[in-house]
Amino acid sequence: MSAALIDGKTVAEALRGVLAAKVAGLGFKPGLAVVLVGDDPASAVYVRNKDRAAVGAGLAVRTIRLSAETQQAALLAQIAALNADPTVDGILVQLPLPAHLDQKPVIAAIDPAKDVDGLHPVNAGRLANGDPLLVPCTPLGVMKLLAAASIPTRGRRALVLGRSVLVGRPVAALLLNADATVTVAHSRTADLAAECRRADILVAAVGRPEMVRGDWVKPGATVIDVGINRLPDGRLVGDAAFEECRTVAGAITPVPGGVGPMTIACLLENTVTAALARRG
Ligand code: NDP
Repeated sequence: MSAALIDGKTVAEALRGVLAAKVAGLGFKPGLAVVLVGDDPASAVYVRNKDRAAVGAGLAVRTIRLSAETQQAALLAQIAALNADPTVDGILVQLPLPAHLDQKPVIAAIDPAKDVDGLHPVNAGRLANGDPLLVPCTPLGVMKLLAAASIPTRGRRALVLGRSVLVGRPVAALLLNADATVTVAHSRTADLAAECRRADILVAAVGRPEMVRGDWVKPGATVIDVGINRLPDGRLVGDAAFEECRTVAGAITPVPGGVGPMTIACLLENTVTAALARRG
């Protein structure tokens, strides 16, 4: 058997098209402010891609570039200014921040109504309470891929591999809200392979190249691979051994071209959601 491919590129493109049409009909341009501190090359690439996609969807994008030496107080002042700016609907602080900055108070300083990364404790709490508004972009993308591939979640066993605030925890909360029976596994889980084998839906978000082997996958299960790992030979691979898993799974996301493209599309959706919610 060869698993059906869940093509994130196509799903993301369709979502961006829907959003562009929606924005065109709004009569105003939702505003997205992206704050980039320092000169990390990977972050610069991510921010450029976000800018481009946001402009393509008709959003008004502003990128605020701050030097690597920016102090906590100056960053907090910048966020306060964006919170107060009525033309800004969404604020995204590109992570990770330089090591001398404390990430948690920075995220907590963002107005929850403008928190398009969905990481503010108010938004995390709403998600945990089953009443989400702004949800972290990659987890939202995971759920949209399941929906696009018509994978049912109600009553299904889901295993989320990874418990980060950015991916694992919000994916688990979203699956729970979608009536799956959810297990969260992590680096202290006993017998990971056995946990994985029970899952109808297996979401891998560990950052370990090809850790999930074919014989960890229940025949016919859906594998959503969030991992993005660069091998020494330059190849980009996920957290699941793709060729092995695709012979067992019923459906699987590739890396690249699976979850990755959904993240930016969901950022655009969150900006539109925030803009509409702020305007009642
Ligand atoms: P983190 O490093 O924050 O979290 C990794 C999680 O995996 C932790 O909960 C950790 O457990 C667990 N883990 C690590 N090693 C093992 C192991 N050997 N066995 C079991 N569990 C393990 O990573 P992120 O959640 O931020 O990202 C995960 C992956 O997703 C990365 O490859 C990242 O690049 C990718 N990513 C992709 C995105 C996209 O747009 N497609 C967006 C964001 C991330 P513990 O808590 O016990 O330490």
